[in-house]
Amino acid sequence: MILYGENSFFVAAGTVTGSCFCYVSSADEFIMVDFGMFQGLPELQELNGKIPQIPFSKLTGVLLTHAHLDHCGRLPILYRQGYSGKIYMTKATREILELTLLDTLKLARHGEGPVLFSEQDVSSVLRSASIVDYHVPFQLGSVTVEFFDAGHILGSASIVLTDATKKIVFSGDIGNFPEDIVRPTEFIKEADSIIMESTYGDRLHPVEDVDALLGEQVKAIEQSGGTLLIPSFSIERTQDLLHRFDHLKTSRKIAAQTKIYLDSPMGSSVTDIYEKHPELYNDELSEHARHDNPFNFQGFHEVRDSKESQSIHHEIGPKVIIAGSGMMNGGRILSHAKFYLPSPSTRLLFVGFQAEGTMGRRIIEGAEYVLIDGTEVLVRAEVAVIHALSAHADQKQLLDWFGHISSPQKVFLVHGENPAREVLGDLIKHIAPKVKVHMPDYEEEISL
Ligand SMILES: [Zn+2]
Ligand SMILES: [Zn+2]
Repeated sequence: MILYGENSFFVAAGTVTGSCFCYVSSADEFIMVDFGMFQGLPELQELNGKIPQIPFSKLTGVLLTHAHLDHCGRLPILYRQGYSGKIYMTKATREILELTLLDTLKLARHGEGPVLFSEQDVSSVLRSASIVDYHVPFQLGSVTVEFFDAGHILGSASIVLTDATKKIVFSGDIGNFPEDIVRPTEFIKEADSIIMESTYGDRLHPVEDVDALLGEQVKAIEQSGGTLLIPSFSIERTQDLLHRFDHLKTSRKIAAQTKIYLDSPMGSSVTDIYEKHPELYNDELSEHARHDNPFNFQGFHEVRDSKESQSIHHEIGPKVIIAGSGMMNGGRILSHAKFYLPSPSTRLLFVGFQAEGTMGRRIIEGAEYVLIDGTEVLVRAEVAVIHALSAHADQKQLLDWFGHISSPQKVFLVHGENPAREVLGDLIKHIAPKVKVHMPDYEEEISL
């Protein structure tokens, strides 16, 4: 049910995935912001089949903040349902979106996730993509739309809508600024209402020297002749790792000849897109890219075909294998895990959050063996975790971002579990007592 009313919107909130908002303008036009997939617990995934009843005749456009699956994963369903309008996004988002949607479809067909759409639906999304530049405002009916760099992943945006009398900002996912790769998050100077993410609203990123930790792990296998396995996410994290390895090699903190494999077709394709967009790099990376490819270095091998993936196991000597998926719930990391985990000379390094129910989480919690392809695989590898690599702002950065917006009236905390939203909400009330803080429920309709 949608309430028609001036400046109202309905939301998906109270969880980190399934991002979707619908704004109803003062002229009764609808604008949708993101249409992401619910991920994780089965009861959340069921929501993917529940399509909000949007009157497409009134929908003047769909805006996409970035190409992570929890923001874009249901877009193809819109076209299946009869929407024929445009989706506005940055150029880099358009390029990553294609990979994300096709990869999701491929995984779904292999039984890893629900099949929600077809190739044809994906083509409809891509055909309907309209490219937007940061800081170039455009009109959707009576509403002015402007994209700002959210500094989260390549192409990510915060979006500001200016209606007759109100300015509304959708934060999108806010980056962990200053970021290792992309430009730092841009602050929004003014808004009446803020729809703000709160993923890390109750947490601070730990202070860790990531390069030193990475270097130590590689040094250890250089001495033992073993293998370092790194399960990694394809977007941003993999490029971040490659860039750090590039620096570790040029500064001779690790040996130039140590082989580093990227065994992730999706990771390689995303890296190709990153290489095409130096205009989106932060200062250090721009400077770096002027004299050297920051994602390529001596001893680096990209493994594109699956036969080659298996032949890595015959290579002797120290090596690093970066492969998806990041939580070990699928992907090429599994065959490497099956082969290498029983050996005590193996190191397994996690570089991201491991959700409950994933193999990664079980290993971190001390599982003695894991089940891969029906085989019990002993975990005798040394397990380590780097916590500080995150593409999300932590509590301090979220408050910093909020603090740059002058005299907002209302803030709606979304894209966060309830404990995170509540802690962040209390802190906002404390620093800005005049601001009304609200935590919308799933499908709640709110008057702005
Ligand atoms: Zn994201
Ligand atoms: Zn660099």
